[in-house]
Formats: sequence, C-alpha cells, structure tokens
Amino acid sequence: MRRAHVVIAGAGYAGLAAYLALRPRLDRGLIDLTVVSAADAHLLLPELPLYLAGQESERDIRLRLGHLIRPPARLHQARILQVRTQPPALVVQGAVDPWRADGLVLALGSIPDDFGVPGVRAHATVIGRWDDARDLRRRLLATLASRHGGRVAIVGGGFTGVEIAAELADTHRVAGRIVLIAPHLLAGLPDRVGQTARAALERLGVELLLGARAAAVRADGVVLADGRHVSCTTTIWAAGVRASPVLADSHLAVNRRGQAEVDATLRLAPCVYACGDCAAVKDPRTGQPLAPTAQAALQQGPAAAANLLREFEGAQRQPLRMRNLGFLISLGRGQAVGSVLGHTVDGGDVATLKRLIETYHAFQIGGLHALGSRLLRSTGARR
Ligand SMILES: Cc1cc2nc3c(=O)[nH]c(=O)nc-3n(C[C@H](O)[C@H](O)[C@H](O)COP(=O)(O)OP(=O)(O)OC[C@H]3O[C@@H](n4cnc5c(N)ncnc54)[C@H](O)[C@@H]3O)c2cc1C
Repeated sequence: MRRAHVVIAGAGYAGLAAYLALRPRLDRGLIDLTVVSAADAHLLLPELPLYLAGQESERDIRLRLGHLIRPPARLHQARILQVRTQPPALVVQGAVDPWRADGLVLALGSIPDDFGVPGVRAHATVIGRWDDARDLRRRLLATLASRHGGRVAIVGGGFTGVEIAAELADTHRVAGRIVLIAPHLLAGLPDRVGQTARAALERLGVELLLGARAAAVRADGVVLADGRHVSCTTTIWAAGVRASPVLADSHLAVNRRGQAEVDATLRLAPCVYACGDCAAVKDPRTGQPLAPTAQAALQQGPAAAANLLREFEGAQRQPLRMRNLGFLISLGRGQAVGSVLGHTVDGGDVATLKRLIETYHAFQIGGLHALGSRLLRSTGARR
C-alpha cells in the first residue's frame, strides 16, 4: 500500500513539534514526511532579547534545520506562496507545479504588524527576521557602547518590548538612552505584573513614555499621535504580530489577525491542519483566542499531527487540550516576573526558572545538540 505523504509547512516551534510527533511513524516506514521552510534555521525567538543585548551568541539562538530534521524525512528550503486545500498542496516559489501531499500541517508562524504606521518599514527594525536581528544587534552594540552613540526607542509595551528594553538597559547601563513607547505596559496582565515590570525598567534607567502611540517613524525618531517627537538614532518596532500572509493570500478563512480559522481539532479542511501563531485557536476552557506563544505552538503542533494521522485512519479526531502553565517575562539579570499556575511570581528564582524553561524548550526541539553551553547559563551564570 502507498504510504501517506505528510508535508509540514514551517519549521518553527509548531512545525518542529509536529515533526517530532510524526517521527516515530516515519521511522516505522508508515508515512513519508517532508518539512518545508523558508529559513534554514529555527530561531529561538524568546531568547532574541538576550541576543540583541549581546548576552547570547548566534549559536545559542539559531538551530540549523539540517541538524534537526534527519533522513528519511526530507527538508526543503523554499518559500511557500500559497496553500491549496482540495487536494492538499503548496504553491512554492520557483516550482512549476504545486507540491501535492496527502496531508498538510501548516505552521507558518507570524510576521511583525506595522498597523499601517508610516515609516516603520523604512526607518525601524521590526522584530522577527534573523537578518534584521543580526544587523540590529551590531548597531545596538555600536550605539550603546559609545557614550555619544545616541538613543534607542522601542515601540511596544508587550512581552517583547519590555524584555528588549530590560536586557539592553541591564547589559549596557545607559540610563536615559533607552526609551519605551507604548499605550500601556503589559496590557491585559495582572496589575502586579505590570507594576513590577515598570519598577524594574525605571530602576534600570529606561525612560517610559506610556499612554503614547507612535503615529509615524522617521529617520531621526518617532512621531507620537499627540504630535510630540521622540528623537533617537535607532527605532525597534515590537508592537505586535499578525499571522503569515500566506493564509490570506490563499483565500482561506482568516480572522482579523490573519490566522486561519480552524475547528477544535485544528483542522481547516480535509487532511489540512494549522497550528501555532498562524492558527486562530480558542482556549477550550475559556473560549477566548489563545495568545500566540511558543508554549501554545509546542502543544498545538503535536495535536495537529495526531489528528491528521487519526483522519488518515478514519479514527475520531480529538479536540485540542491545552495546558497553560503561565508566562514569565525577564527583566534583566536575575529579575523576572510572571504568572505560574495562576500565581503572580517575581524575583531571582523566577529568572532562573525562565532560563530553565527556555533551556527545556531548546532541548525539546533540538535535543542535546541545542543544549551547548546553555545549561550553565540556565543556572544563572550569564555571560
Ligand atoms: C522577541 C520575541 C520574544 C518572544 N518571547 C516568548 C516567550 O518568552 N514565551 C513564549 O511562549 N513565546 C514567546 N514569543 C512568541 C513565540 O516565539 C511564537 O509564538 C512562536 O515562535 C510561534 O511558533 P510558530 O511555530 O507558530 O512560528 P515560528 O516559530 O515563527 O515558525 C514559523 C516557521 O514558518 C516558516 N515560514 C514562514 N513563512 C514561510 C513561507 N512563506 N514559506 C516557507 N516557510 C515559511 C519560518 O521559516 C519558520 O520556520 C516571542 C516572540 C518574539 C518575536
């Protein structure tokens, strides 16, 4: 009998977790498996703030896919332009015909959202792409290491903006030269989390412009909605994400964040599933949309893969069961705040816990190969 051919689109947290879940079937010769990714490496995005601050190296946060995806699985580095659902197939840049599959797992992640603010693409660095991150780190090190190097503005008061501001300020000790612009700090999270983060950022000398909205980004700084101008030499755009445009370009049903509408089993069409940042997944307990996180992607990838296998076998698909363990936000060396199993936590032990979780995620995805020197750092001994 012909083996079913599964194609995973995207090799980030969700795609690699789906790959690992399907790997035993592949090893038993029961399926063929192909992974398609535009990038040649998996980026450990939660560790990007540390990389930008110069605390971690490229080796620490960028895991080469060639080391993670082993034969007989096939890895193709290619840009997907569209998804077809009937029959399942991917339209790939440079390929004459669509790549057909018996089943698809879509794990295409998200892209930074500029919310239509003029000047973002031309004058700010958006957080998400590896090449941009590498250039940004170089510029930040040059800017912040020099006493006359200018100011850095970070737009966005969510996890990403807060962590980048804290890590840069803690590493470079440049009081008054890092400014964070946002309508709110850590909106939607418990008050104590926001207050702890605010106090930590102020202690580190980060200037907080809260209640402020960026209306435009220029080469010399950020123009706020109330007309004020925040002068800076580098602008980092960390204001939010939207799903990969591939889904909307494929005329699939998407929500306002561009995420594919899936059912409770993560299925969007026969033998086509979506997971991670690119899927509109509701928390089964609250009915609220799940935030795009690595934690969610790591659980959804295997769930999507398992339901695809069930569909092949004519078995009943299972609704996603999510375990939300909470979240942790790092606030510089030895400081973090967050919520674990519903309890707000902060302090040095929490910072160590966050490092351990990141190490565990790296291990989950990349195995021993991904551990490298990070175990030492997980116990608090950062460079
Ligand atoms: C700076 C930062 C810090 C973060 N910190 C945390 C944190 O502390 N905790 C947490 O839980 N989450 C955090 N997140 C969010 C987390 O990183 C994402 O939710 C997670 O990466 C989503 O996983 P994913 O697999 O859906 O997408 P990704 O991990 O982004 O993977 C997407 C994959 O799709 C591929 N791809 C995309 N488009 C195409 C295309 N057209 N063709 C081919 N391949 C394509 C990419 O190459 C990549 O392999 C953070 C994010 C950022 C940016």
